Amino acid sequence: MSSTQLWKVAADAPLPEALTYSSDLPLQRGQLVTVPLGRGGRKVHGLILGPTQEVPDFEVKAVDSIVEEYAPLPEPYVKWLEWLAQYYLHPVGQVVQSAFPPLRKTEKQRASKRPPVIPQLEADSALNLTDEQQTCFESIAKFSSFSTHLLFGVTGSGKTEVYLRLLDKVLSEGKRGIVLVPEISLTPQLIQRFARRFGDKIAALHSQLTDRERTNQWWDIVEGRKSILIGARSALFCPIDNLGLIIVDEEHEPSFKQDEKLKYNGRDAAVMLGKQMNCPVVLGSATPSLETWKNAVEGKYHLHRLTRRVANRALPDIEVIDLRKLKSDDEEKQKAITKYSHLPFWLSPDLYERMHQVLDRGDQAALFLNRRGIAQMVVCPACGHTRECPNCDISLTLHAHSHLICHYCDYHENFKTKCPDCKEGQLEAIGLGTELLETDLTRLFPGKKIARADRDEIQSRADLEDLIANMESGDIDILVGTQMIAKGLDFPKLKLVGLVLADVGFNLPDFRATERSFQLITQMSGRSGRHVKDGESPGLVIIQTFNTEHDSITFAKNHDFEGFATHELEIRSALNYPPMGRLVSFRIQGTKLGQVEETARLLARRAQALKTQFPQYGSIEVLGPAEAPLSKLRGQFRYHLLIKTTQPAAANPFSRQLLGDQDWVPSGVKILIDIDPMSLL
Ligand code: ADP
Ligand code: ZN
Repeated sequence: MSSTQLWKVAADAPLPEALTYSSDLPLQRGQLVTVPLGRGGRKVHGLILGPTQEVPDFEVKAVDSIVEEYAPLPEPYVKWLEWLAQYYLHPVGQVVQSAFPPLRKTEKQRASKRPPVIPQLEADSALNLTDEQQTCFESIAKFSSFSTHLLFGVTGSGKTEVYLRLLDKVLSEGKRGIVLVPEISLTPQLIQRFARRFGDKIAALHSQLTDRERTNQWWDIVEGRKSILIGARSALFCPIDNLGLIIVDEEHEPSFKQDEKLKYNGRDAAVMLGKQMNCPVVLGSATPSLETWKNAVEGKYHLHRLTRRVANRALPDIEVIDLRKLKSDDEEKQKAITKYSHLPFWLSPDLYERMHQVLDRGDQAALFLNRRGIAQMVVCPACGHTRECPNCDISLTLHAHSHLICHYCDYHENFKTKCPDCKEGQLEAIGLGTELLETDLTRLFPGKKIARADRDEIQSRADLEDLIANMESGDIDILVGTQMIAKGLDFPKLKLVGLVLADVGFNLPDFRATERSFQLITQMSGRSGRHVKDGESPGLVIIQTFNTEHDSITFAKNHDFEGFATHELEIRSALNYPPMGRLVSFRIQGTKLGQVEETARLLARRAQALKTQFPQYGSIEVLGPAEAPLSKLRGQFRYHLLIKTTQPAAANPFSRQLLGDQDWVPSGVKILIDIDPMSLL
């Protein structure tokens, strides 16, 4: 006998809370149902969160039906989904939808002639671990309940081999594992490496799959046919039970953060899932995020180190070229300058000569230029000075050739052309792009095959794979690109990597600019000379810069992550930036500039008022509103307001109260919230 009961249902709608429905169906928490929504009674999916006694003061509608196809989600998953909604302030009904596949199981399967998601390959046997790998493996393998581990290993130290061993162990105990990697690293090469070890036990979920493939992979996991799930961040949403291990490789990667809709960080969400599932979580990186590093040095995470590349391969040499010297006026230099007078301003004689040497030997060179977001940077060519905000310690950005502004707090100053630091040079706005590099290189290296890899040229995974194939076959001599090519790639003949203008990276208006720059230099070094044999000269990395003493360079040059992290944490601490403090960003956007500005100011006033009214918000700092660095994007004007606090627990309730029910926001303006933002462009 069933009787009518009230249930909390997370219905697929942009509502902050779950709704109440009645039902006499045999329901339980985690079950997917359909419910009528709104006046029209449109049917939507909803997840049962549990029974409730609260009788709402409006007419309660009845649950329509159970979606029989799906068993109730495992309890830890439901808890985890609720946490995501709560922590990232996203409608719970929209969060839970991600836990289901895009198609129904029985929906017609269209024949596709694509290669299988997981290739059938001949099995590889495990490598003999090095002593360091063995120690790391054993000290992680001891754990079988929730614990978070940082596997901190230099590039090429064999982290992946440690992951494979840990997964082996988990499988032998009859449990299953998840391996998360950044989308861009999820190459066929990587899947093959796992497929050769684990054969048909593997499932994969990533953005290149069709809905049909994604649905099939989902069922392979949910029905227990596969035991290891490899995927990009969204793979976490596949409800895999009996979980024994979660691995997050390249945990520092900003791409683990989803920057639309539910703005979750896949790394943090993975740790939370491990907690709910009570299994160990392993985060791996050669350049851990400062968030993770802080947790490791404070003992919240267990730290395991791989300090050497396998097979005694040397780390590459890093040379730093001072671009200020190119403008020097001493006599000998002048002669050199005449000899190299045909070189463009961005190419130093040293880098030019090194490129010749490498290419003459039949090897390859790659040049990187970071040009994300910002068109121009302001620098004094004599002393390397750049202007930073006196309040926020981030670079100021040039506007309309006349003034410099801070994109965090809206500080303004005139763009004075005399350098305020050395009082000699004239500040210059430097603009540089990968296309210009390509054009100049074509002129300077006639007969060499040059390829460009940036977002204009590489728009799909297929483009990227073509590029990889052409690098491998030697059809490219010089590769020019943005940081998109700095990651994860492995080319035996790549012996020289040049960073054309490091300053572009550390002058981004972002408090993480120095960290990003350090990571980029280290990752780049990881690309150079990966396959040099014992005794061969190591790969070479050349960094051109106006600021040879910049922290990101001096520490990266010595392969000194720990020194860098200690130093950078002190700097973060002085201004309460993460990981010392918590940050929340509110982006205000709309098609009418006046309305956007007005709403941004109103939001700031509401924030100040909340602070005054509630003593528990005393630690909160309100920055801005200021124009976002990308002040107009796809027809939308963009402002942002940042809040910073040293009391993490205050950030969430404050943000919730600040937004309220948003009935004060004019129609045509949207406020998007980002908890723990990774990018503030
Ligand atoms: P990381 O992930 O730390 O950059 P990888 O796991 O990709 O490093 O290993 C780098 C290279 O070293 C790979 O080619 C891998 O096959 C090889 N390798 C890893 N461990 C061993 C080992 N114990 N013995 C021999 N080669 C190894
Ligand atoms: Zn500022």
